[in-house]
Amino acid sequence: MTKRFGGLAAVNDVSVEFIKGGVNAIIGPNGAGKSTFFNLVAGAIAPTSGTILYDGQDITGLRSDKVARLGIGRTFQATNLFEQATVLDNLIVGHRLRTQSNLLDVLLNTRRLRDEERRCRAKAEEVLEFVELGHIGHRLAADISQEEKKRVAFAMALATEPRMVLLDEPAGGVNPEETKSFAGLIRKMVDHGITVCLIEHKMDMIMSLADKIMVLDHGEKIAEGTPDEVRNNPVVIEAYLGS
Ligand code: ADP
Ligand code: MG
Repeated sequence: MTKRFGGLAAVNDVSVEFIKGGVNAIIGPNGAGKSTFFNLVAGAIAPTSGTILYDGQDITGLRSDKVARLGIGRTFQATNLFEQATVLDNLIVGHRLRTQSNLLDVLLNTRRLRDEERRCRAKAEEVLEFVELGHIGHRLAADISQEEKKRVAFAMALATEPRMVLLDEPAGGVNPEETKSFAGLIRKMVDHGITVCLIEHKMDMIMSLADKIMVLDHGEKIAEGTPDEVRNNPVVIEAYLGS
């Protein structure tokens, strides 16, 4: 797959296969093209060239709401919550914005939508329990900690009942102790049969969790393999130390 922004190849002829049911990590220096790669898979942007196959199905260029409904959930690098809404309402609205193409449907309050809302609410409560935040559903998003916001982002990705999740720096800005609890959450997702794709700078976390690692640098895949293979690869060491 290739994605160009003007003259810049943010993702340059990258080909990779993720392990179903495993933890697939993408690492690389800032600006390497990691988030762009996720945006391509999630349908947020269309590739300049290339093909995306999900479970054998060609999803290239499919809109993000369709991709979400096919079973690919995601978190964003920056967690944007509606600060003046409750955690539960954030999850409900977030779910709808992700899976419904028609904003008018989201805004209009028809009976069909009220039924949908009940389903969404039950789902939101369930995923909040999954991330061990069942007790904060009624708090305002503005009043919860950074670590809790990151967990809410996980819950949001899970609300669409994904079979695969794209996690963009899920432990960004959280302390080492909290990072361990995120690793636990990721294991829990895998135990539930969810395929995980993970962008993360925290190497301890990557090395202990990943089944497979792809290393990007300046839009290009410079290495891939198991944590041991990648850790000892001179090209990877050079990319990190040389930048
Ligand atoms: P990473 O997540 O690895 O830090 P990104 O995928 O965010 O890197 O960015 C890769 C490169 O593409 C960067 O040089 C960035 O400035 C550029 N880029 C990302 N998104 C856009 C965009 N929408 N328009 C123009 N350039 C972009
Ligand atoms: Mg990024």
